[in-house]
Amino acid sequence: LDTRLDVAPVPPDEIFALNGAYFADTDPHKVSLGVGVYRTDDGKPWPLPTVQKAEKALVEDNDLFRHEYTAIEGDVPFLGIARDLMFGFEGKQSEEEAKARIGTVQTVAGTGANHLGALFLAHHMKPRNVWLSNPSWANHQTIWDLAGVPRKAYPYYHAATRSFDFEGMMNTLESEALEGDAVLLHACAHNPTGLDPNKEQWVAIADLCERKKLFPFFDSAYQGFASGSPEEDAWAVRYFFNNKPDMEMCVAQSFSKNFGLYGQRVGAFHYCLNRSSTSIRDVVVGNLCHLIRGEFSMGPRSGCSIVKKILTSGELTAEWNQDLQVMSSRIKTMRQALYNELIRLQTPGTWEHIIDQSGMFSYTGLSPKQVYALKDKYHIYLLKSGRASISGCKDTPHYDYKEYELTPCTVSQKNVAYVAQAIDDVIR
Ligand code: PMP
Repeated sequence: LDTRLDVAPVPPDEIFALNGAYFADTDPHKVSLGVGVYRTDDGKPWPLPTVQKAEKALVEDNDLFRHEYTAIEGDVPFLGIARDLMFGFEGKQSEEEAKARIGTVQTVAGTGANHLGALFLAHHMKPRNVWLSNPSWANHQTIWDLAGVPRKAYPYYHAATRSFDFEGMMNTLESEALEGDAVLLHACAHNPTGLDPNKEQWVAIADLCERKKLFPFFDSAYQGFASGSPEEDAWAVRYFFNNKPDMEMCVAQSFSKNFGLYGQRVGAFHYCLNRSSTSIRDVVVGNLCHLIRGEFSMGPRSGCSIVKKILTSGELTAEWNQDLQVMSSRIKTMRQALYNELIRLQTPGTWEHIIDQSGMFSYTGLSPKQVYALKDKYHIYLLKSGRASISGCKDTPHYDYKEYELTPCTVSQKNVAYVAQAIDDVIR
């Protein structure tokens, strides 16, 4: 290349490239199953009603559009609120003691929390490896590569049964992970497979991390979005924190999906110590602030104000819980609708996994060739891995899709039948 730089073309990010191809497609039947965003029945974005209420109140208080700097660690009241949402504090320790174990800073959403955490560990713990599930959110690879920590993969998905490969994960970590290695764990709604360990399995994973002195790094991007209950979706994080107090760990927390605040970039990073010590905690936070200062100085304001407004009002918190129910239950309904269609069409293969998986995505089990055929022939866009974001589908009885004018920018109930029919065709 004719530049002073030593650069080679970087392959485009698959999800954003897919989105670009989708928008350029002029076919009226096109369907986007790529990017993980929640859509309404009509294929429109869904600003959470509770978020809109909070925005209105903040505007009235003249509080939403204040543009002053915050602290380097972020909006201080927000940090406590984010921590309490994640950890709940129903464990054995007293609340004050538990809080003195956790250092929290504000980040640029979940991605920023993952990145800051990776960088922090690379500087101050120097793990020999980070273990990522195979598969994992693709950006985990970039994030850990940028932090300079060698990556290894533990088995996670058993393709033949389309289920969680618990044995594979445990055996690999048991025999190959080294003391001090970081293990990346998805707190709930594993992306991309939608398969999570059950509680018994989480207990075994925690025991293994403790015994082998591995460092659990939780990525929590879907708290409340997966099951509808923020408590239930934080179960694994809270179990590790409360039951393994001698083990240090950390959590990257995103508010993008559960508050629908995608572009606002709201997130937090929590480092959990193996003892209650406000002085050690403050040193940890100070070091995190050092990294933040050199990178982005501090996180952004407005999104945090919205979360703060909601989680400091009992009434708004209750309404937010209802919003979570709306989103999570529709995803479940959509899974059922897609499953029902495939069964009705007697599409070859088993499809139970579509209803058994949880969260925003379905790992369909379609091959890259079938995925390509869906795009080529039906203008249906999903990831090469077969991951489909089904958050826009609705549940209605079967009908002939041709009679409907399809909303040209999302999956909606109107195209569940179309999608199922297309899958059926590319599978046969
Ligand atoms: N981790 C996982 C597993 C995710 O799926 C996502 C969202 N796609 C994120 C982190 C980060 O999301 P954000 O930066 O938008 O908060």
